[in-house]
Amino acid sequence: MTKTLYLTRPQFEAEISRCLNCKNRPCMKACPIGCNPQEFIKLAKDGDFEGAVNSIVSANPMGQTCGLICPDKFCMKSCTRSHIDFPVNIPKVQASIMHEHHNLPGSAPQAKSNGHKIAVIGAGPAGIAACTQLLKNNFAVTLFESTDHIGGALNLIPSNRLPVEVLNKEWSFVKQNPLLETRFNTKVTDINALLAQGFEHVIVASGEPNGIDLNVEGENLAVSYLDFLNHPQKYIATGNVAVIGGGAVAVDCAITAKQNGASFVEMFIRRRVSDMRITNDERQTLLDNGIDLTSMTKIKKISHQNSLLTLYTCKNRFTDGKLEEIPGTTVARPDFELVIKAIGSSAPHFDDTDKIIYAGDCKTGGSTAVEALASGKSAALSIISKYIKKAS
Ligand SMILES: Cc1cc2nc3c(=O)[nH]c(=O)nc-3n(C[C@H](O)[C@H](O)[C@H](O)COP(=O)(O)OP(=O)(O)OC[C@H]3O[C@@H](n4cnc5c(N)ncnc54)[C@H](O)[C@@H]3O)c2cc1C
Ligand code: SF4
Repeated sequence: MTKTLYLTRPQFEAEISRCLNCKNRPCMKACPIGCNPQEFIKLAKDGDFEGAVNSIVSANPMGQTCGLICPDKFCMKSCTRSHIDFPVNIPKVQASIMHEHHNLPGSAPQAKSNGHKIAVIGAGPAGIAACTQLLKNNFAVTLFESTDHIGGALNLIPSNRLPVEVLNKEWSFVKQNPLLETRFNTKVTDINALLAQGFEHVIVASGEPNGIDLNVEGENLAVSYLDFLNHPQKYIATGNVAVIGGGAVAVDCAITAKQNGASFVEMFIRRRVSDMRITNDERQTLLDNGIDLTSMTKIKKISHQNSLLTLYTCKNRFTDGKLEEIPGTTVARPDFELVIKAIGSSAPHFDDTDKIIYAGDCKTGGSTAVEALASGKSAALSIISKYIKKAS
């Protein structure tokens, strides 16, 4: 079942009319990047959509993206309306305002460099937020990106949740700034060399590029979520598909496999279904798509038989709050055409120096788009504050 991404006019009116206009702004306090839903909803109620858009973009350069994919654990969780009935669907309101009223940019802005040159590595949300903040303060920025496109891990999110046009639209506002130079297809291998070239600081926003291993026999028979979501057409399977993992990324893999034509998709989850760190919408999508969930299960081995794959699984239990394997429960689960592993990602950890600042998932570990954006923005603000007394 395909969900509509934006609210219809009557749905939008109904949703904003439910906002209580709380003066203490719990929704803004809960937003990692400081978007102000109380303000933009009030402006929308008054018919000032330009003001509403400005309110969103002044805090967040990817307000439409966030509106489409922010989980309900931030602004929505704090919404006072939930004490009466249920929270205002702030992300959808935000996405709808941006979709309808944030029009493509016209002429490029005039900008005069303040004379300082900064390098940003990575064009994911953290890198984009860092660039935006630096450009706003007239720094000359060079953005290095190893691929030929922006968005980083956001490109792995299926297009029925996040169409690529939304990323391109938001990027079009950033890229028109004459103080920005972009170097796509350029992988940075030596950060110190950038400093030697005259960049005063480097913001590293390179994400978490490595999928975590299961460390079991036959692991090489499984496809990593990175490969699968990057090239779903390469892994079309019409039979049974197993997805190992129970987070939001595993959910995207399961739904994509189903939409690719799999007759049966089963997710294998280490913990309980109630422990899955996914939103209510994601739970609903699993139900809508008839995805099977096998919880409290550990993968012991993967093997190849008659061109199909067999998973050897055993049951887990909690002992003193710790997850442990129940002896004697190993069974073979044959007949999978494809096994996808989606148990998380990792990146080597480095500490900030005066000149090199890390931001986004490479600093905090796998997070969310809005947290990566907030981290990139804060890395830029830490540089700006060195040069400009009152950074905005
Ligand atoms: C399948 C999936 C579903 C997700 N769903 C959601 C969701 O619903 N909601 C949500 O909020 N978040 C979601 N996320 C998480 C979100 O996408 C990430 O938290 C966010 O993209 C991290 O941003 P980042 O800028 O830190 O890193 P990334 O987005 O990973 O960007 C890093 C960029 O750096 C580039 N790079 C790396 N090394 C170099 C180098 N040496 N030189 C030059 N460039 C380099 C990479 O090519 C990449 O473009 C999802 C992630 C995945 C994978
Ligand atoms: S950016 Fe995300 S968390 Fe912040 S107000 Fe908007 S939808 Fe909520």
